Amino acid sequence: MNINELDSKFNLAIEAIKDAKSIYIVSHVQPDGDNIGSLLALGLALKKIEKDVFFLKTDNIPKDFLFLPNIDLIKDYDEKEIDLLITLDSSDEERLGGNIELLEKAKKIVNIDHHLSNTNYGDINIVDSQAAATCEIVFKLIKKLEIPIDKDIATCLFTGISTDTGSFMYENANEETHLIAAELLRIGIDKQEININIWQNKSLLKTKLFIKTLETLETYFDDRVAIVEVTRDNLRAVGASMEDSEGIVSFIRDIDTVEVAVMLKEFEEDEIKVSMRSKRYVDVSDLCSKFGGGGHQKASGCTIKSDLEQVKKDLITELEKVI
Ligand code: 5GP
Ligand code: MN
Repeated sequence: MNINELDSKFNLAIEAIKDAKSIYIVSHVQPDGDNIGSLLALGLALKKIEKDVFFLKTDNIPKDFLFLPNIDLIKDYDEKEIDLLITLDSSDEERLGGNIELLEKAKKIVNIDHHLSNTNYGDINIVDSQAAATCEIVFKLIKKLEIPIDKDIATCLFTGISTDTGSFMYENANEETHLIAAELLRIGIDKQEININIWQNKSLLKTKLFIKTLETLETYFDDRVAIVEVTRDNLRAVGASMEDSEGIVSFIRDIDTVEVAVMLKEFEEDEIKVSMRSKRYVDVSDLCSKFGGGGHQKASGCTIKSDLEQVKKDLITELEKVI
């Protein structure tokens, strides 16, 4: 989407916001920092212009993000009328989990996202794959609405941008990302506290799962592909939950020879959630879309209804074609 197109989409969204009284903003399944950050930031901003804002919970909020201001506002749907539903960071309808039915109930839908694979399921779709995070798009929307960005809003936006860029390390963190971050810093956020909360706050339990999971490491194709498994047995053995596996896949991507890192999460015996990361040239979004998933070129996922061994076999067959 070019700048003019993007601008006209912003104007349509602003019109829809101005026309609406009750605005529901919805998170996605297994929400990440960008999702929770953009949800809170946009909701807090819209409250300032006297809208009835509802922050919709789709899934459990990982404890890493419980430090965010006003996190308690995120709640289950209250069965009331929805003038406007805003989806964030959700590339397709399925990402909305149990809240998918709200797409039917809402009078209007604004879909704000930065995934190239977004299916444009909204009435108004602000999809900018150049943005490093949905929080960047929300930052621009709040500015266009001329709502002042306070410290709480800035904290949420900075968190989303930091988590989606690997603390500004990945190539998606471009000049504009840094300029936005600079503006958020100027507002007076406590960068050190945010960084400690999102990057230096691993529980001992999470660390134990990390160790256990690394023991499952297998490599293929001259160590260019690395695969780890988070099995239900291992979760039970350390007393951890699946959300504690977050971060392991990027750790194995950091192995020098590795181009593609894969983490297989055994949710059920025959339901495996795949997390994939690449380093230089493999488009893992393309690969995951073959299994009904998607995401970004270098960070994607999908869910496959087979057992661990079968999933591994099928993925290796596809990986061999691209590695
Ligand atoms: P993660 O591996 O951290 O769960 O997800 C990495 C990226 O892939 C995120 O940008 C996320 O939106 C996307 N992603 C993960 N799982 C799925 C999926 O099942 N479908 C789609 N469309 N995207 C996914
Ligand atoms: Mn995102």
